Amino acid sequence: MLITETKCPICGSDNIEIKKDIKSIRVPLAEPVQQNFVYCHCKDCLADVLIESESKKEMAKKSFDSGKASMPLLIDKVKKSGIPDTRLERALRLAPHTVSRWKQGKQVSAAVMALTRYLAIMPELVEIAEKGFDEKFARKKIISKTFEKIKEYDDSFQAYYCENEFGYHFKCSALKNHILQEEDDYSNFEKYELAEAI
Ligand SMILES: [Zn+2]
Repeated sequence: MLITETKCPICGSDNIEIKKDIKSIRVPLAEPVQQNFVYCHCKDCLADVLIESESKKEMAKKSFDSGKASMPLLIDKVKKSGIPDTRLERALRLAPHTVSRWKQGKQVSAAVMALTRYLAIMPELVEIAEKGFDEKFARKKIISKTFEKIKEYDDSFQAYYCENEFGYHFKCSALKNHILQEEDDYSNFEKYELAEAI
């Protein structure tokens, strides 16, 4: 880094100080990265003028490298939910050992990273792939999973759904802090059942 400023760019005073600053930039599901700034602080006019900062390109590379470093952790999260690498490879029609290469940071593109992040936060997406990306199954799965998550916070949560010619109909209620109302009636569902997975 070459700092050539010797005078304040605003008032021309040489009563200046070169200061450095660091900004932390968030990377999804990975360690944040730091962006370095250099600026000129003038003790006379009190101006702070930016001289140099890491470019967008440099920052994109740092973020990508941090994302790459997070791959083993993300894949382990999928594995811990009961989906081993081989099942993941079969479901996504990937060549054998692809996942292990990803873990080593090999063949990791932005698309691979995005896919792995989706899977880490919702490993059930693998089941959707296994069902041939059937939209109806996918929607039901995502809603069931959402209900399951709500139930973790509120065990009084109940959800019912029925399926008819128009699609799925859902009814749900959280009974904590809620007095059961007469209109909380699920009996009009011909075929009701507690939504799957909760
Ligand atoms: Zn100045």
